[in-house]
Amino acid sequence: MLKSIFKVLKSVREFKKYAIITPLFMIGEAAVECALPLVMTNFVKILKPENSIQDLLPYFLAIIAMAIVSITCGILGGRFAAYAASGFAKNLRHDLYKKVESFSFENIDHFHASSLVTRMTTDVTNTQNSFAMTIRIVVRAPLMLVFSAIMAFVVGGNLAWIFVAAIPVIGIIFVVLARFAMGIFRRVFKKYDALNESVQENVSGMRVVKSYVREGYEDNKFSTASNNLSKEFIKAEKIVSLMTPLMNTSIHVVYIITMFFAATLIFKETQPYWGTDRDGNPVVLFNWGSLAISDMSALLTYGIQILMSIMMISMIVTMLVMSFESIRRISEVLDEEPTIKNPENPVMEVNDGSVVFDNVSFKYKKEAERYAVNNLNINIKSGEFIGIIGSTGSGKSTLVNLISRLYDTTEGRVLVGGNDVRNYDLKALRDSVAVVLQKNFLFSGTVASNMRWGNKEATDEEIVKALRVAQMSETIEATQERLNKVVEQGGANFSGGQKQRLCIARALLKNPKILILDDSTSAVDTKTDRLIRKALKNDLPDMTKIVIAQRISSIEEADQIIVLDNGEINGIGTHKQLLESNEIYREVYQSQTQKGGN
Ligand code: ADP
Ligand code: MG
Repeated sequence: MLKSIFKVLKSVREFKKYAIITPLFMIGEAAVECALPLVMTNFVKILKPENSIQDLLPYFLAIIAMAIVSITCGILGGRFAAYAASGFAKNLRHDLYKKVESFSFENIDHFHASSLVTRMTTDVTNTQNSFAMTIRIVVRAPLMLVFSAIMAFVVGGNLAWIFVAAIPVIGIIFVVLARFAMGIFRRVFKKYDALNESVQENVSGMRVVKSYVREGYEDNKFSTASNNLSKEFIKAEKIVSLMTPLMNTSIHVVYIITMFFAATLIFKETQPYWGTDRDGNPVVLFNWGSLAISDMSALLTYGIQILMSIMMISMIVTMLVMSFESIRRISEVLDEEPTIKNPENPVMEVNDGSVVFDNVSFKYKKEAERYAVNNLNINIKSGEFIGIIGSTGSGKSTLVNLISRLYDTTEGRVLVGGNDVRNYDLKALRDSVAVVLQKNFLFSGTVASNMRWGNKEATDEEIVKALRVAQMSETIEATQERLNKVVEQGGANFSGGQKQRLCIARALLKNPKILILDDSTSAVDTKTDRLIRKALKNDLPDMTKIVIAQRISSIEEADQIIVLDNGEINGIGTHKQLLESNEIYREVYQSQTQKGGN
């Protein structure tokens, strides 16, 4: 736990000075607050008819000055605490973000995207709050406690023992209540995470929810979760709401006890005694000393300060413990090692577009029993057109993800341009291998800004050329804004097929040596699909093209077609060879032609 805390605290960085100044101001505030009752006492002591206003003036001024100092320290302390805590949170969020950017697909699989979001938002906020609280109170409260206790003994003598006796009683009340509440709060936070995740899923999947007319169902699910959460919150708050009255009661009890003994001391005649001995003489068990009225008010003030600081200390301990869970979750992300890193002496240039799979097997998790792809041996020459076909879940996407090193192989090696992909500089490799993922993604902006993701320096001509190959130029040119046509979030204002074609164009702008289309023309009609293939062949003859498709017509003319089944290669060959020798291929072909093809 301590390690996690230190790890997270490293993000304070340039805001350290504020984090150090804050407690200093809080010490100032505490010191003045402790001295003030003492000055007051002395002021009351000289309130006598024989003293003139002149005699009182220094006290007036001292009290006003102290009040100003105390307020200033309090304000500045609060302000610096806010600087420190929000700066800390900013850095922490930034560090988390940077870390997540370095994550490989495997790392992201490990955490899930939604959990990463919760960690970067809710957990950081929890940590920020407890940090602000800590730097303000952690020094101040114990200091107040010690100061006030000393002063209580100075002005009240042995009477101060009453407060000392009250400390454990109040401490115990608080700790017991806090423990109860904390258990519930912990559960609440866990549920809160679940709720967050469900909201994120629902909002991003809103279109699916709507198209399946599942709003009612999702709404019910959400309100159940939300109701559960509020019930737990109420339970916790009920306990927390007990704290203040209980505290007040105990403070008042202490107050009354103190007053009683103080009063008996002030009126010396009723010196407290505990009975009489056999001869009728009073027996004094304890020498209480004597007390002036002015001292009594100071004593009571110190008493309250002692009890208040005890409350503060208990509260901050509770807060801290509550934020430990958040700190742990944050440091878990910071501790995660990116599974894919640049090698020491990376190869910066990819020679050509050849790809070799050398006995490659891969599984997504070490502990998984089943390999997603198994024992692959493939030899692709630069410039070839490769088709991959297979049922869903047969490992097609997995296979191509290994080429751009989105994942590392579990066994065997993948060579691109004659070099193991693990030897390449990641950027150099991924610039040469363009993948149009099955789950493609457009960013909000314009067509041009999206295209320039592929190549920052691309000119308008180059963009139009890429769009032309992807058979998207006519659609774009026909619009009024042309390349400046707005792309809404997730490309919502384009149809599925248009989005796919935009993504192909974006990939082409990288000017890659290898282009991988993972089912990227599934929403494009057959005619356009054919035109894209023709343009790719004629305009970019040297580029290796690896095409995953459901339709045989999309890969019919390929130099080699790989039939995947259950993560293994079931057959490799041309269309003609496979029709003769491969049963799966023949079946797929027949089913697609009998239905009249598509
Ligand atoms: P295809 O693209 O042929 O439909 P995939 O390569 O996506 O198939 O998936 C192959 C197998 O790997 C499937 O059984 C799938 O459930 C599993 N798989 C895919 N992606 C992941 C992932 N990120 N984590 C764990 N398992 C995965
Ligand atoms: Mg797939």
